[in-house]
Formats: sequence, structure tokens, C-alpha cells
Amino acid sequence: MSRAGAPRDGDRFVNLTGPRVLPGVQVMFPFLLRKVWTSLVPRTGAARVIPFRRAAMMHNPSVTWIGHSTMLVRMDGMTFLTDPVFSHRVGPASFVGPTRLVPPGVPLAQLPEIDFVLLSHDHYDHTDLPSVAALAQRGALFIVPLGIGELVRRAGGAAIELDWWDRTEIGTARVHCVPAQHFSGRGLTDGNRRLWAGWVVQGPTQRFYHAGDTAYFTGFREIGERLGPIDLAALPIAAYDPPQIMRSVHLNPEEAVQAGVDLGAKRMVAMHFGTFDQTDEPLDEPPVRFLAAAAKHGLDRERAWTLHVGESRRW
Ligand code: ZN
Ligand code: ZN
Repeated sequence: MSRAGAPRDGDRFVNLTGPRVLPGVQVMFPFLLRKVWTSLVPRTGAARVIPFRRAAMMHNPSVTWIGHSTMLVRMDGMTFLTDPVFSHRVGPASFVGPTRLVPPGVPLAQLPEIDFVLLSHDHYDHTDLPSVAALAQRGALFIVPLGIGELVRRAGGAAIELDWWDRTEIGTARVHCVPAQHFSGRGLTDGNRRLWAGWVVQGPTQRFYHAGDTAYFTGFREIGERLGPIDLAALPIAAYDPPQIMRSVHLNPEEAVQAGVDLGAKRMVAMHFGTFDQTDEPLDEPPVRFLAAAAKHGLDRERAWTLHVGESRRW
């Protein structure tokens, strides 16, 4: 794998494995129809929500699941947020896109002081401009992949933009932008013009990895080798059916566990499930399959976590 930044084709970014091949209309069209149906008739199986506890949320080190890929992380005395999404609906307009099945585990107004915010890519379920604007108003600094700074600035915030394998320093932390296998775009014409990425936050004593959205790829092993040992890896486990559409851009639960193993992560925590209804699999299937796959690798509940929304876990 290259040591340079993300590959490009003109002004668009490309995955390490090359351009994505989408299945034909005979697969795409029925999928889109099913999504229209589930937006009208909500399905059951959302994640369970429990009241958050401030003392647990402030424990150092700890992680709190706010929902989807939004995590509040405390480590080495720092506090940071990943992919903050607090809106009820995520989409290009107030009436388009999936709505939350469960409220945020911690309301925006009750967040502690935040040292920095990480965004993984520009999809609406990860870069939520109302949340970005609210956090910007509180003075949050955003660290983002190439091209997303413009979105943050439009929402009134300040951003540091990084390419894959670039890093920046915030206090005692080194924040590394690392490869992911995904895609980007918020409209019809901006496909792959902003980069997608994962993040490794390296403090004096702890290392945390957030995968963003990604398919299974060889990058996990390289990230672990170059930036490990990872103490806690946050891995997306859902949005995998139908595989003809999703396999090239998302992990299924078994691949998420394999990614954590490739990374050499001491512990892994599941995310990107139970919050928005995005794909075909039953909403409550990903965490069950994730824990079963972890057990097959000899990883018990101390090392592979599925949290409730609002739950904090110390490590
Ligand atoms: Zn995405
Ligand atoms: Zn996503």
C-alpha cells in the first residue's frame, strides 16, 4: 500500500482497490423501493437507550455511545467526539433521508467541553451540518479529511484538513488520518470529490481508532502495524444487505471482527447500527452476529463490546 495520500482520478478520490462497480438497476431499483417502504412503515429492532450517567461519561479513559457512529471519547485527559449526528433526520432536505429510531444518548446541550471533533466523510449520517454548526458555536475544532473543511466553514466552524497518513497535533495527542474503503457525496455532482477516512488518536498512554464507514480491505493490517497498538477500535457493523450493493463500501459483522483482529486491537466496540434504518438486514441482527463472530475468534465480552445508546464503558 502506498505511503502517499489517497489516490486520485482528476479531482475525484479513488479507493485503493479502484473505482466502485455498482450492480444493475435490477438490484438497485427494488432496494430503493424497499427503503421507501421502511421510511413509511418503520421496522422494529432499534438499539436500546439508557439514561447516560455524567460520572461514567467523564471517566478517563472511557467511550460513550451517543448513537450511530457518534462516540464521545475520553482518554489521556482529552475529550473528543466522532461523527456527531444529533439531528432527527439525516438527508439533503428536511423531508428527505432516514429519521432516527432512537434519540441521541446524550443531548447536545449536555455534552461536556470538547477538545476536538473528528468527521470521517461527507455522508449525511456522518457530517450533519446542524450538529456541526451547534458544536462550532461552542468553539469546537474539527479535524476532517480533504475537502470537508469547506462544509465545516460554511457551518461557521474551523477545520484542519488531512490526507491519508497525514497527522496533526492537538495538545498531547497526535491525530492520524488513515485510509478507509468507501465513497463520498451529498448530491448528484459531488461524488468522491471529498475524501473519506478513518482516524487514529494517539495520546501519551492510549490509542483509539475510529473506522468511519469502510468495507473490508487490507488497510486494517497496515494501520495496526504503523500506528498500533490500538487500545480500542470503533468499528461499523451494519448496512451490509444486499451485499451486491453494500459489500464494497461497508463491513458486515464478521468482517468488522476480522478488521479488529487485523488491527491487533485490544478491544473493539461496535457502531453504525440500531439508529437509522439504512439497508435490508433486520435492525437487531448486526450486534448478535458481531458478538457471535467475536466469540469464534476467542474474544469475550470484555474485548468485543456492543453498547446501549447512552451507555459509557471504561477501559
Ligand atoms: Zn458513508
Ligand atoms: Zn454511514
